[in-house]
Amino acid sequence: MSGKVTLVGAGPGGVGLMTVRGLRALEAAEVVVYDRLVDEEILARIPADAERIDVGKRAANHPVPQPEINRLLLQRALEGKNVVRLKGGDSFLFGRGGEELELLAENEIEFEVVPGITSALAAPSCAGIPVTHRDYCASVHIIAGHRRGDGALSLDYDALRRAGGTLVFLMSVATFGEIAGGLMRAGFAADFPCAIVENGARPEQRRLATTLGGAAACIAREGVRSPAVFVVGRVCELADRFDWFGRLPMRGRRVLAAPDAVCLSERLRELGARVTDMPVPKVKWLPFELPRPGGALLLDGVTAVEALFARLDALRLDARALAGCRLICPPAAARALRSHGLRADEVVEDWPEDVGSAILLCEEEEARGESPRVGADAIVGNGSEDTDSEISLYGKEETQGESTYTGVAAAASDLPEKAGSAILLCEKEEVRRRSLYPAGADANFPRLRAAWREEVAPVEPGVEFVVCLSRRDLVRFARAAKDWDVSRVRLVCADPAIARAAQALGLRASVPGQPTVEGVIALCESLCRADRVE
Ligand code: SAH
Repeated sequence: MSGKVTLVGAGPGGVGLMTVRGLRALEAAEVVVYDRLVDEEILARIPADAERIDVGKRAANHPVPQPEINRLLLQRALEGKNVVRLKGGDSFLFGRGGEELELLAENEIEFEVVPGITSALAAPSCAGIPVTHRDYCASVHIIAGHRRGDGALSLDYDALRRAGGTLVFLMSVATFGEIAGGLMRAGFAADFPCAIVENGARPEQRRLATTLGGAAACIAREGVRSPAVFVVGRVCELADRFDWFGRLPMRGRRVLAAPDAVCLSERLRELGARVTDMPVPKVKWLPFELPRPGGALLLDGVTAVEALFARLDALRLDARALAGCRLICPPAAARALRSHGLRADEVVEDWPEDVGSAILLCEEEEARGESPRVGADAIVGNGSEDTDSEISLYGKEETQGESTYTGVAAAASDLPEKAGSAILLCEKEEVRRRSLYPAGADANFPRLRAAWREEVAPVEPGVEFVVCLSRRDLVRFARAAKDWDVSRVRLVCADPAIARAAQALGLRASVPGQPTVEGVIALCESLCRADRVE
């Protein structure tokens, strides 16, 4: 059976201006075909296992030709896939959505169109320009300002003047000087107000007030770049008074924020910030050695139990393969084991949050030729129990008497002081009997950072604020920012313990009066306000 194609209008900018229905479709997509104009915040919502196809640029920045996109959509749908075609603004407004549907309709592919907020209306809105206003005009006209194939602009300037409404030009960065000239020749005064809204509805939005006579010079002087809309109309006179966007306290500030608290990013965005979520390490299910009979298996959470059974399954084994093996875990994992018909040998009430960090430290020590301080035959862990999406598996291999830890840590986080307790636990089990991790764990943090290197996608430099709600976030940040000059970064930490850990990294950290998301947001806001005053 063939699949379905949903044209989703992604709106003019971030995820907040996308429709709920569009977002739902995106989150259920198996294939996402998207354009250059779609914001990274929205692209971040594409499911991790979905196929992502960027048709906005190919080699040498040339977009994929339209017939090829049409064929691509058809082909994926014929493969039975649930395809989302994601476009900036609204798919039908200069979005070639109609062309894409033609081939699908011809082939009787099911499709749906989720409208989007068009930049033609959103950019003026966010710039404080009401496109209609009873005192000024009663219509708005949306016009494409790009040239035809033969290089000519085919606009009926007289008709535009007679229409008497607000004119919104899209795709006009290169042509607006010429358009303004045409409008003046048709009878518009040289001082007729117009506005340029670049990157409308996005944190880096710029609004430039000008006149038809001054537009060309303004575009050149200010280096206006696409995407931008050009608004011609008396309503532009209202923009200064209604410039709510320009007054947002965190306008355009770049923030890297903990992804766990959804409302945090949303709230910061509403304050005008450009928020990137802290990258979550890629989950990699690695093969790991099952313990030998008589060995021990530490399972640090429910996900670890699931990972274990997935591994057994992959090996075409079942719970019997664990016979004679000691199972040690926290209570939640013990319950999960029970549902698989297994009883834990030891349920540890005060399970250390971060077994994984301990293992990473050991890996590092091994890399330096020191013998590891801790080991279990296999440790299966996801770092902590609250994020089921993150899993890490650590296996240990013994070759010629030497042990190496295999496995890529995915999420185990937090700072080494916790690792101490993990090691304690292992010692208690006499899996290995080496000394504890030394005191003053914070000082060792950079080493932990190094151990994580390859696991996390880097974040582009330029972030001014980093919001950490837990030490896990701090670790994520440290890993993501491995090549940054972190001295320029301002860290907002939810509580003093995180701030102390951050200071050990050489980061300037501020702590809100209240250790809550609200407190963190208020602190970010006031730091930005203080900057403005300076
Ligand atoms: N379907 C889109 C328009 C696609 S044509 C929509 O409904 O918004 C591309 C043009 O849209 C750009 O040249 C620019 O004029 C305009 N545009 C898109 N996003 C914009 C934004 N965030 N700010 C200003 N203009 C934008």
